[in-house]
Amino acid sequence: MNVPSQSELEQLLKKYFGYDSFRPGQLDIINSVLSGADTLAVMPTGGGKSMCYQIPALVFPGLTVVISPLIALMQDQVSQLDEAGVPSLFLNSSLEWEEYAANMDRIRSGEIKLLYCAPETLVTERMQKLLASVKVSCFTVDEAHCISEWGHDFREEYRRIAEIRERFPDAVCLALTATATERVRSDIKTSLKLGAPRAFNEFISSFDRPNIFLEVLPKGKSAMAKQLLLGFLNTHPDESGIIYCASRRQVDELTLLLNEKRIPALSYHAGLSDEERKTNQTRFVRDEIPVIVATVAFGMGINKPNVRFVIHYDLPKSLEQYYQEIGRAGRDGDAAHALLLYSDADISKIRFFMKEKTGLELKAAEAQLQAMVDYAESRICRRKVLLSYFGEKAEEGSTGSASCCDICAGMQAGGNQFLTDVDVTIPAQKLLSAIARTEERYGASYVIDVLLGSRQQRILDNSHDKLSVWGIGKEYCKDDWFQLTKLLLQAGFIRKTSDYQVLTITQDGWDTLRERGKVMLPFVPSGTAGADDAGSSRMKFPKAGKAAERLPADDTLGRRIFEQLRNERRRLADQANVPPYVIFSDRTLEDIAVKKPHIRADLEKIYGVGETKAAKYGDFILVTVKNCEK
Ligand code: ADP
Repeated sequence: MNVPSQSELEQLLKKYFGYDSFRPGQLDIINSVLSGADTLAVMPTGGGKSMCYQIPALVFPGLTVVISPLIALMQDQVSQLDEAGVPSLFLNSSLEWEEYAANMDRIRSGEIKLLYCAPETLVTERMQKLLASVKVSCFTVDEAHCISEWGHDFREEYRRIAEIRERFPDAVCLALTATATERVRSDIKTSLKLGAPRAFNEFISSFDRPNIFLEVLPKGKSAMAKQLLLGFLNTHPDESGIIYCASRRQVDELTLLLNEKRIPALSYHAGLSDEERKTNQTRFVRDEIPVIVATVAFGMGINKPNVRFVIHYDLPKSLEQYYQEIGRAGRDGDAAHALLLYSDADISKIRFFMKEKTGLELKAAEAQLQAMVDYAESRICRRKVLLSYFGEKAEEGSTGSASCCDICAGMQAGGNQFLTDVDVTIPAQKLLSAIARTEERYGASYVIDVLLGSRQQRILDNSHDKLSVWGIGKEYCKDDWFQLTKLLLQAGFIRKTSDYQVLTITQDGWDTLRERGKVMLPFVPSGTAGADDAGSSRMKFPKAGKAAERLPADDTLGRRIFEQLRNERRRLADQANVPPYVIFSDRTLEDIAVKKPHIRADLEKIYGVGETKAAKYGDFILVTVKNCEK
């Protein structure tokens, strides 16, 4: 099969999906799959994973089977593809038999490009027969981390995918996931037998979601927390968002409070009936209600692109969980806001529930919580802390700006509410050298004791009092050294092993040591500065900068067109019984309102309008614009 050129692939993207260019990583993954190599791609939520198999599916002569654990998402994906003019369907237990049989006929006829199914469906006899009767070009395994016990969502049935794959030696396999540590990635590769016998490529896109502004506020007592929440919501009126709470009681209490304040909000938690949960979720997804207050149970399978904020009213248990939850914001690439409220009481609550755990499991949970707390208490760029936790370095330019995080915004503003960086090159090198000289085998306390010239028995036994670094750190007290250790950890110069909390030096740390590079961090040795009073002065909720050209505030006609389009979209969506974004994204509506198309040819320039949508909704767009201009 001839692999299409980049411009041919871009034409497909434009024709079917109405986008002008690929997002970072997409093209490499698509090319890999089309070249016939098994491919594992890790891309953050909202990164645009679906396109990585949808474009190849349009090129392949045969069927692309997409294995996904979430039945709820299949309907959504198929509706969106339908709208884009890509023949696709799903087979799962939610279908009536007649529809199931009709879908099977359409697959046999060869007209279908994409078939979505759950792993349980894939392994059925009926499905096997069906697939054997057609040409299968590609198996796409979505949420591929479910295959590994080391992932956060293990599914037994995923293990059987490999055996099915073996029956289709000509089909290439693409595995996709948003979160996978090295261990999980290697599990995916082995379990799916990726690369045997064909070639294998692995792509790991950045975990960075630069359009999400990161903010943390200490929430103090309950009354202050509520005030912070209402303050935020008042500065983000009509925006769609999720508020996560640690308990059902808290969810219900906040929903009540918001409704009292005339902020339309619904609850979502395991205490509600299935019916209620489903209704509330649907109303949120369909933009009927802007805010949903939820426990962590909410979010899997929510594909809503225009979630503008995610608020954590309580501290999550781990950065993994936190990252996944904030990832539900800003999937459309537009600016979004992640606000975390936390207090010491949250930490105690999590610790209390950790008591049930023992051994290594307890240790892992403690280390995860500590990383979460370190993030919340960070004095350096939060993006750097988050990325460094996932083993990644922040890209030049993605940090430091006012739209990055509260810390960077504070620094940009030159405000005194945040601490400024100072030159810590000398103490940083002392600490890094002490870790190196003790062979990266000890925790922070021991390393610091060496710097302070302690004569503890353990240090004497190891002859570490003979090291050149012994006693060279007496200018600071132990607490100050702990503070510096934390800053170096957050900035990614050193790392802590999760089991024994041993400090090791990262590549960046070694580079700094060898090249004697300057290290700037907001270090405040005791007695030299006041504490970081993160209270009221930070309650101003800066809005993150918008990513693309937007509707100017003074374009009243544009605003009118946007509102009108939004109403019309709701009507069309209700008629078709789909969420509004399946028809057009908010971004597309805004682009129409800015560009005000008058003739069909103008539609080509609109973001997110491909040929099928132009044919189907072109008149609706042109007429709406014209009517507003009258
Ligand atoms: P993921 O599965 O990685 O979370 P999706 O595949 O749902 O992300 O994509 C997120 C959003 O980005 C969707 O609305 C999708 O249409 C959009 N998108 C994907 N690729 C592009 C692109 N190249 N240009 C613009 N938007 C894109």
